Formats: sequence, structure tokens, C-alpha cells
Amino acid sequence: MSRLTYAIAAGVLAAACLGVVAYAQQRVIATDPIGYGRPQAVVTYVDEIKKVSSQPIKYLIYSHHHFDHIAGGKPFKDAGVTIVAHRRARERLVGLKDPHTVLPDEIVDTGRTITLGDTTLELSYIGLNHSDSTLVMRLLKQKVLFAVDFLPVGSVPGRGMLDFYPLEAEDSIKKVLAMDWDKLIPGHPGAPGGRLGTKQDVQDQLMFLQDASAAVKVEAQAGKCWDPVEKELKLPKYQSWPGYEQNLPFVLRRYCALWGRGF
Ligand SMILES: [Zn+2]
Repeated sequence: MSRLTYAIAAGVLAAACLGVVAYAQQRVIATDPIGYGRPQAVVTYVDEIKKVSSQPIKYLIYSHHHFDHIAGGKPFKDAGVTIVAHRRARERLVGLKDPHTVLPDEIVDTGRTITLGDTTLELSYIGLNHSDSTLVMRLLKQKVLFAVDFLPVGSVPGRGMLDFYPLEAEDSIKKVLAMDWDKLIPGHPGAPGGRLGTKQDVQDQLMFLQDASAAVKVEAQAGKCWDPVEKELKLPKYQSWPGYEQNLPFVLRRYCALWGRGF
């Protein structure tokens, strides 16, 4: 499944949950417009929502400030949708002035709950992780969690490690594990087959990060960061995970920055 198709499916899943359960209450909530470099995708996204609900879209929630997820929201804005994001996302967007990314209308600090009929969507800021502006979204009754990018399902994270907060992310992941949910919609397709995630997947991802961190820490303190670690260190326990060969250097580089440099 392409990333675009997946993202639309994820968006429609959220919309469908709300549209069906809160049908009498007449509203839809959408998430990340995913229009980076492809504005037409956002038009398609809006059309796909219309196929599963005749109700107007009330809110568009930004999961975090990265442009690959939130660029292209103009069709939503033009339709009168209220855009919601974490305070830090807005601060970054104000500074960057990206011409393709619409500023949020409403700000979340620690959390917010949106209720439509008997359906409740909880937005939570659980600290620094994949970004400094991540909101995790949870449909309380359906026990569905939408956590974008910082919880890959069954795969090794890659370029997302560039501005990852390694120490704080572990706390953030533990907070996610303590929440009540059954199904995780990740920001990119779960492996294999674009599947949704479980708490076991989150536990596995935490273990991967902790193993990578511990391995690099030893090497860093022996003076091996950066090149020797990036080129030679392996984590064979995870070699069957998609992205292992291509993405592991990004992971090792991030932990070298932490343990070899103090950042
Ligand atoms: Zn991201």
C-alpha cells in the first residue's frame, strides 16, 4: 500500500469511526492533510472523507509540525475547517512561514477533549519524542490510538531520528503504554502489510531504542563515534525488521550525538 493510500485510509478510519458513531451529531474530524509536494492529494483526501460521511468536516488536527504530514491544508481551511495543533507546532510554523502549510487556528498545551455525540477524541501532549510538538489522538470508546511517526510498527525508524529526543521519547512511549487502547494507527504503514499496531509493537519499539542506545553508549565512551559506529555497529536481533539496513545508520547517528556529544 502506498503511503498516500495508507494515510487516506488512516484518515478515513478516524473519520469513519466518528461519522458512524456520531452520525446524528453531524461532524467529522480529520487529521494531517499530508500534502507535501502533492497538493492534489489533499483534494483526494477531502473527497474520500465525503464518500464515508455526508457531514461537514469540523476539525483538522495536526499530529506534529513536520511538513510531510501537515503541508497542504488549504482545501480544509477553505472549507471552513478549524485547524488544531500543539502550541509548539504553531510557534515553529509562524517562524518558518512555509507557503504550503496553513497555520493552526486553535492551540493545545497539555491536552484537549473533543466530544461529538457519544464519541470522544482525546488529544494529549506527552512530552518530547519524535518532535517537540506531537499530539497523540485517542478515540476513547473505540480504543484506537493515532500516534504519528514516533511509534513505527514493526520497522526500524529512519530520517525521523534527525530531530528525535532519545531520552525523553522513552518516557513518552511509556506514557502511551499506560493508556487504554487496543489498536495503533502509526504515521506510516505498519510492517508487514500496512497493518495496525498493538501494545506489543510499542513495547518492541521501546526495546529496540533502548538496545540501540545501550550499544552506542558503550562504543561512544570508547571514542568510537561517529564513523566507526555508523559503519560497523550492528543490532542483529532486529535485522529482519524492514528498514534495518537503510535506516540503522540514522538511529546510530542520533545515539552517537547523545552519548558521544551530549546532545
Ligand atoms: Zn514526523
